Amino acid sequence: MNYVSTRNTDVKVSASQAITKGISSEGGLFVPENLPAVSVAEIEKLASLDYIGRAKSILSLFLTDFTEAELDSCVKGAYETGFSSEKVAPLVKLEDGTYILELFKGPTCAFKDMALQILPRLLTVASGKAAKGTEIVILVATSGDTGKAALEGFKDVENTRILVFYPSDGVSPMQKLQMCTQEGANVSVCAIEGNFDDAQSGVKKIFTDKAIAEKLAANGMAFSSANSINWGRLVPQIVYYFSAYCDLVAGGDIKAGDAINVCVPTGNFGNILAAYYAKEMGLPVKKLICASNSNSVLTEFLTTGVYDKNREFFTTISPSMDILISSNLERLLYSMSGSENVRSWMKALAETGKYEVDAATLEAIKADFAAGCCNDDETKATIAGVFKSKDYLCDTHTAVAVKVYNDYKASTGDATPVVIASTASPFKFSAAVLEAVDGKNDLDEFEMVEKLAAVTKKSCPEQLANLRDKAVRFDGCCSKDSMEQVVFDMLGV
Ligand SMILES: *Cc1c(COP(=O)(O)O)cnc(C)c1O
Repeated sequence: MNYVSTRNTDVKVSASQAITKGISSEGGLFVPENLPAVSVAEIEKLASLDYIGRAKSILSLFLTDFTEAELDSCVKGAYETGFSSEKVAPLVKLEDGTYILELFKGPTCAFKDMALQILPRLLTVASGKAAKGTEIVILVATSGDTGKAALEGFKDVENTRILVFYPSDGVSPMQKLQMCTQEGANVSVCAIEGNFDDAQSGVKKIFTDKAIAEKLAANGMAFSSANSINWGRLVPQIVYYFSAYCDLVAGGDIKAGDAINVCVPTGNFGNILAAYYAKEMGLPVKKLICASNSNSVLTEFLTTGVYDKNREFFTTISPSMDILISSNLERLLYSMSGSENVRSWMKALAETGKYEVDAATLEAIKADFAAGCCNDDETKATIAGVFKSKDYLCDTHTAVAVKVYNDYKASTGDATPVVIASTASPFKFSAAVLEAVDGKNDLDEFEMVEKLAAVTKKSCPEQLANLRDKAVRFDGCCSKDSMEQVVFDMLGV
């Protein structure tokens, strides 16, 4: 299978090249030339496999230049032992017809682990094929969870270095502590003065700067990306939508071929795009429901066709979704409208911060997607409501999805069974979750973790509780204009 750039379909690369490069040199994102099809009969077969078996089947459709043995070792290395649930991504029934897909059972307690436990393994194999002998430098811009998950995935991986930038005031105390205490000889972490979009734009700029690339090449290094612009991040996310569907079939909740809806708390549009690809491949999904917090740029876009990032930026209690430029939307636009339109819309976005798609594209989008948003008060009320009525504790991001789904169901009457993606452990966002279930307090982060556990009778994942005793290794902060220098300093070039 070949991959093309969303901005120039004459750029054609292998899976290994797409994963190694991360982003196409003219700024486009790599997408499969054609999506493979999976029939209902094949889905029924997948239902009899475990997560590892399902992952190998789906990934082999996309990573066609990987051998079976290579895929086997990547998948097993990622999912065999690193997750606290043997199902890897367990499905929890909240009530009849409503299921929570728990994607936070990995080492950093956020859904980013689903992809970032396997990406370093894919990248090591891919760069061995596509860029032998080169040291891979991973640059990450994070809204909180990607940074830690990437650090954990890449720490001490041979022939790689990783540098993470996070917005100094845009992450939760637990997220910050997770990153600043990171162990490993090849890792570095730096705060930037600005928000996530500043971090992401800075990293994208460094990636596509020819002079910087030449300087790295002269030192035997090359950049790659662990952000969801990298195809190797997206493809493992397709797996768990198939897996969730298989669990519903295997558990007798639905029959193979029945439609489901999927609702995803969305920031950079990676997770929900993976669900869209699963649908396009043949997974029986009726609606993809895109849930946003007060940064509702996607709600507006998916309902009106106007993407306008010129708006107030809100720092919310669901910080991993505090994003105004959703990078992966470009891949959806490519699927629906082709590279010529993508080029002109992305140009308009870069120049004016705004674009509007044509009526046909909007109609196609609306056929597949519904969208909604909610604010912090509604998020907290949802956490409290779900906890009281179902004894289920969800994190702030998941609560946004639950609220938006409830609104969708109430306004449309669509009672198709739904899978709601749950993207983080509630203990990663203890302050807001505790306030929701127990009212305001003035405790410190770890006192809140303990109180949340006591009040809800749920236990805090060990890897979060243990952070209390870890030494801070990284406390630097730079301006958005000095990110380039921070990169050079870290690499010693
Ligand atoms: C990253 C993240 C999201 C948003 O996912 P996208 O793929 O960027 O849309 C939602 N919730 C949590 C907890 C996250 O870490």
